[in-house]
Amino acid sequence: MTDKYQGFVSSPLGKLLVKNLGLPNPVKLDRYTAGDPLVQGTVLVGGKGRLAESLTGLLDLLDITSATAQVDGERYKGLVFDATGLSSTEDLVALQEFFTPLMRSLSTCARVVVLGTPPELTTGSERVAQRALEGFTRSVGKEIGKGGTVQLVYVAEGFEDSVLSTLGFLLSPKSAYVSGQVVRIGAHGESNASGVEDWSRPLAGKVAFVTGASRGIGEEIARVLHRDGATIVGLDVPQAADDLVKVMNELGGDWLTLDITAADAPQRIAHHLKEKHGGVDIVVHNAGVTMDKKLANQTPERFGKVLQINLEAPERITAELLAQKVVNPNGRIIGVASIAGIAGNLGQTSYAASKAGVIGFVDSLTSELSDGITLNAVAPGFIITQLTAAVPFATREVGQRLNAMSQGGLPVDVAETIAWYASPASTAVNGNVVRVCGQMMLGA
Ligand code: NAD
Repeated sequence: MTDKYQGFVSSPLGKLLVKNLGLPNPVKLDRYTAGDPLVQGTVLVGGKGRLAESLTGLLDLLDITSATAQVDGERYKGLVFDATGLSSTEDLVALQEFFTPLMRSLSTCARVVVLGTPPELTTGSERVAQRALEGFTRSVGKEIGKGGTVQLVYVAEGFEDSVLSTLGFLLSPKSAYVSGQVVRIGAHGESNASGVEDWSRPLAGKVAFVTGASRGIGEEIARVLHRDGATIVGLDVPQAADDLVKVMNELGGDWLTLDITAADAPQRIAHHLKEKHGGVDIVVHNAGVTMDKKLANQTPERFGKVLQINLEAPERITAELLAQKVVNPNGRIIGVASIAGIAGNLGQTSYAASKAGVIGFVDSLTSELSDGITLNAVAPGFIITQLTAAVPFATREVGQRLNAMSQGGLPVDVAETIAWYASPASTAVNGNVVRVCGQMMLGA
């Protein structure tokens, strides 16, 4: 499952055609390798606001080299701009003043992060200015090119020290396929400065339960959470037992084979996690299916089955785990939505309904959680897996190219995003739905 077009454009003929015909030019994205520094280069910090003064200190904690003034001829791997001080429309020109001189001084796969205040927590002209940041960052995301990414992080007042795990994720290659996103910190969560002792193994001592873990995105989620120190409990259907056992044996993990839509599935999962592991710290509802058909040809069985697997099962399992207090304090519950749930898709009424429902699930439950437990979701775009390999060639090509990176993402890109939510330092990251879609042209 490789991207043949990406291989072609790096050949001499491919390079010529890209240049002369203006074809999409997907660059090879930087991806994180365990043991590497989070950022290989310097991050330039600018802006004036609530966070500016503490930023270099926070980056130091992550071993990220930073600077506060541009040096001629220097190339930057990242830019962080504190825009929390922008309180009126006329202040917004500060964005242009900071960024324009730097846009030609960025390395490949550069990272840009703008920090703001959640507009809904401000009033009047400040609210206008803070909301304007969204249009600015999303446009820079479409302009930056060369595998660069751009995000807006809204940090509620009092949560200035809670940005650490988010900066570590968004400035590093871990966020290779995440761009044009708006993240909220402190909108619902409790403040926590760090909670991580060893940033190379932030999940040490944690138990992570992952559904659909035998292959594809679920397998990669299991691998990345294991890399970060967690003990993995993987689940899949009995038909996938061989593959699941193989992956879990490799990771020194535990497994459970059942259909998550079975009537007794929530109780069996809760029992297993409680009895064998004394509880669970991270729950990832990854298992999912598509059964595409245009609505005119749809049957109640197929329509219902997709909703049961993708939405009802995560709702029922979460309710049971919370009711039985199987989720430990500071636990993480993570849903897997889809870009289809945001933009809709032809032939996917049931799938899109189920995935939009996952977003509704995040909205409905987030503010009811306590003990530092958070609920967030990822919304993958086009990720290269067996599921998307089955998509017809022409549709697949369109899906892969119609994004700011001109390529599909990899399962590891979704997994890294989930690992960021899962971090003990992400307690203030609650109620978010972040797309892992290379800033796809479909949807917002
Ligand atoms: P996949 O088909 O490769 O893997 C899905 C896994 O879920 C399989 O191992 C399957 O056996 C398991 N599963 C299905 N029904 C189950 C059930 N009833 N009980 C227990 N396990 C069950 O798919 P993938 O591409 O890895 O997708 C993983 C998740 O990501 C899904 O929720 C999917 O909707 C979502 N997603 C994928 C993409 C993409 O481009 N691949 C895009 C958006 C969202």
